[in-house]
Amino acid sequence: MKSEYKIELYTGIRPTGDLTIANYVGAVKPLVELQKQGVKSLVFVADIHSLTDNEPATASKFCREVVADYLALGLDPSKTNIYIQSAIAYQVSYMTLLLARHVSVAELLRVPTLKDKLRNNANPKTANALLLLYPVMMASDILLQRAKSVPVGEDQLAHMEVVRRLARDFNTKYGEIFPIPTVQQVKSLRILSLKGSRKMSKSFPEGAIFLTDDMTKVKKKIKSAETALEGKLSDSLQSHIILAKELCDDHEVHSKIDTIIKDHMDGKHVMGAFKDLLTVIVVDFLSKFQVRRAEVVRDPSLIDGILKEGASMALANAESTLDLVRSSIK
Ligand code: AMP
Repeated sequence: MKSEYKIELYTGIRPTGDLTIANYVGAVKPLVELQKQGVKSLVFVADIHSLTDNEPATASKFCREVVADYLALGLDPSKTNIYIQSAIAYQVSYMTLLLARHVSVAELLRVPTLKDKLRNNANPKTANALLLLYPVMMASDILLQRAKSVPVGEDQLAHMEVVRRLARDFNTKYGEIFPIPTVQQVKSLRILSLKGSRKMSKSFPEGAIFLTDDMTKVKKKIKSAETALEGKLSDSLQSHIILAKELCDDHEVHSKIDTIIKDHMDGKHVMGAFKDLLTVIVVDFLSKFQVRRAEVVRDPSLIDGILKEGASMALANAESTLDLVRSSIK
């Protein structure tokens, strides 16, 4: 058991409602693709992490909703186990305390993402201490499950360094307890808002397409999307092209997009045709998603069963790791 991995691929999802198509393209689709390649995964809904920014009631409110979204977007429960993080709240909390003893306040304050946050959108005088503890909690999640590979974007690389360092130091002090997790850096796609140059996000709903949007709204939003002047390739247009291709895997459709963009670069007025095609692609994707989601939520016992199975697996892994920890530290 010592140093043995138990989980091939491990990742967390945020318990937020109102996912956008950018969330699908940037976060859900890469996971579904790894699953298609046969990688067995364990996914957790990070409601304990969400306490950093939310009241406990809000943190737990969207857990089942986001699981329904992910299932309807292609997560296959026969290949991927899913649990809600708070199902093992005791184990996560205890492990976090034990690990926190092995990291200094100074090291945590040096983590670049924290520095960025404190500079841009959190005030050190008012931000709560969970913000500082985030990498330690992350270590606790990953190490308890004995995860081998953790896919992360560039912004999470520094956190993974803390996780790996903590695992190594704990092992050096108490014996071989944790297998060292490896980092799988994922290419980060940045889908831009339909309006302006910021990224598509639910905090700017006018420029975002939500998975729950009705088709009339989608058509209207795409109709007023920013594109580019004839002969020019703006960041917006490039992002719309990526979005269209990511939402539809059909090669013929990809060729149609390429032809339109070639005409556009030759100075022709084809942005109307491009928007029409983008609309067809988005409407097709969303209508299929919405039908699947309605099926997923029709029988609540489906999600209950999936979460129960996931929780029992996560609990078994966490408890056997904690048994090792308890016997090594005494
Ligand atoms: P958020 O809910 O904004 O924290 O996003 C969760 C995840 O969705 C991010 O970590 C990204 O992987 C993905 N994501 C969100 N917005 C975008 C975007 N505009 N373009 C690409 N991926 C995105």
